[in-house]
Amino acid sequence: MGPLRILILAALVYLGYRLIKANFSKSGGNEKKDDEPPRPGGAITDVLIEDPVCRKLIPKQQAYTLEADDGPHYFCSKECGDKFAADREESDQNPSSDQ
Ligand SMILES: [Zn+2]
Repeated sequence: MGPLRILILAALVYLGYRLIKANFSKSGGNEKKDDEPPRPGGAITDVLIEDPVCRKLIPKQQAYTLEADDGPHYFCSKECGDKFAADREESDQNPSSDQ
């Protein structure tokens, strides 16, 4: 075992290291594509819904929610929700008395 073998070994290791490094920097350009941040919980966070009373569009998360028999309704404010509920009760109390 002379010092020459160690030198050759060191050269091989160095060459291998350089090859690996070259491959890494070649494929390194594509890594930016995965940059999109994952949505927390994957939930619908920014859906716009229409207020049935004033026709305003509001983000669902910030909406005032009113649970009705036929499902939840969303409003821009409690006032609109109250108005909606009041209108409903009114029409419930007068079930098409015209006919
Ligand atoms: Zn409203």
